[in-house]
Amino acid sequence: MDLYAGFPFWLIKNPLYNYVNEVKDRMHTDVAIIGSGITGALVAHELCASGISCAIFDKRAVSTGSSAASTAQLQYEIDVPLFKLLEKIPEKPAVIAYRASLQSISDIEQVFRKAKIDAEFQRRSSLFLASDKKGCKEIKKEFLTRKKYGLPVNLLEHEELQQTYGINRLGALWNEEAAQMDAYRSAILLLQYNQRRHDLRLYPYTRIAKHEAVRNGYVLHTDDGKQISCHYLIVAAGYEAGQFLPRKVMDLSSTYALVTEPLRPDQLWHDESLIWETALPYFYLRVTADHRIMMGGEDVPFRNERLRDALLSRKTKRLLEKFAGLFPHIPVHCDMTWCGTFSSTKDGLPYIGAYPGSPNLFFALGYGGNGITFSMIAAQMIRNKLKGVKDERESVFGFDRK
Ligand SMILES: Cc1cc2nc3c(=O)[nH]c(=O)nc-3n(C[C@H](O)[C@H](O)[C@H](O)COP(=O)(O)OP(=O)(O)OC[C@H]3O[C@@H](n4cnc5c(N)ncnc54)[C@H](O)[C@@H]3O)c2cc1C
Repeated sequence: MDLYAGFPFWLIKNPLYNYVNEVKDRMHTDVAIIGSGITGALVAHELCASGISCAIFDKRAVSTGSSAASTAQLQYEIDVPLFKLLEKIPEKPAVIAYRASLQSISDIEQVFRKAKIDAEFQRRSSLFLASDKKGCKEIKKEFLTRKKYGLPVNLLEHEELQQTYGINRLGALWNEEAAQMDAYRSAILLLQYNQRRHDLRLYPYTRIAKHEAVRNGYVLHTDDGKQISCHYLIVAAGYEAGQFLPRKVMDLSSTYALVTEPLRPDQLWHDESLIWETALPYFYLRVTADHRIMMGGEDVPFRNERLRDALLSRKTKRLLEKFAGLFPHIPVHCDMTWCGTFSSTKDGLPYIGAYPGSPNLFFALGYGGNGITFSMIAAQMIRNKLKGVKDERESVFGFDRK
């Protein structure tokens, strides 16, 4: 699959981790991870830190899948607002999902802080705008629901929003618990850290064509005929994981993003908050470490790559128009644009954990707008499973959830 097209900012900003390592025929590893994106990197990190030996295989250059195209906002709000999630699933798992997502932002921060890796992780506040009257009703409902469950949230009425942000909208939800990062750089640096510290083995340019269940584990077949045996197989193959999944769990769609040329910090909005809104198609924005405005959204519900790419210019023009509607006084010049494939699930929750009936096969699929927070959760859940530690999140994100 062609995961993205155009000029993803992070791929231009960061050097390629131009690492090559050939698989020896009939190699063995205790744990094999398919995918070297931010999910595979976090999973490997958690396993290595627990003394579990693993190897990562990726068909591309290191970490150059979707993680390189991500706008990398970290928010505890999952795709479905809590009040709506409570209409879809029981109270307990819905609240656990939100709390786990909130906790994962601090956990990501800790991973990079402890490893002394500059992941461009920056704490930010999150501003969720009501786009219209319907949105205003929804944020008020969401405010009361999140308050009820002790989740951090504040309601800004029109006047306060106007005064603080200069934004003319009916209201917004605000919290201080969000963050942002460079997911591509983070994944690469974390992999390098574990290569140095824990002898993590990394095999880019190695496509796993099929996997075969054997007694005591799996045999992976590369597309050039090599075989890798493993006791546990972890699929962190992002939006291309369908190849390894016995049933479809996600819908693929397309999304668009751009960065502007850098601005002076005084030209930007209060707090450089992450901003998003209730209206669809989705629109969101953040500020990069070098003071560019990065914005994205305009999602379309298909993954046809030719059609997706053909819309790039029209969709990014639309993003700029939306920005001008929000901040007419901030002059921006678009620098790079890109588009990518994206996926969502019916309940807005990711799929993480062992596949029913296949106890040695794990999936770390952080689907949805909060893929990266889910990557962290997946890494911890899989580590816990391999270490025999009970994890209440299994019943929320697992394949056999209700
Ligand atoms: C434009 C855009 C904006 C986004 N914005 C956000 C955001 O603001 N916040 C957020 O949390 N998330 C966001 N996401 C989602 C987020 O980027 C993803 O959830 C995350 O990057 C997924 O990481 P991953 O490691 O699971 O997948 P990837 O980075 O795609 O890594 C999977 C790897 O698996 C490899 N692979 C696949 N199949 C095989 C195979 N058969 N053999 C070997 N290797 C294989 C691929 O080559 C790939 O490198 C965004 C996504 C896009 C496209």
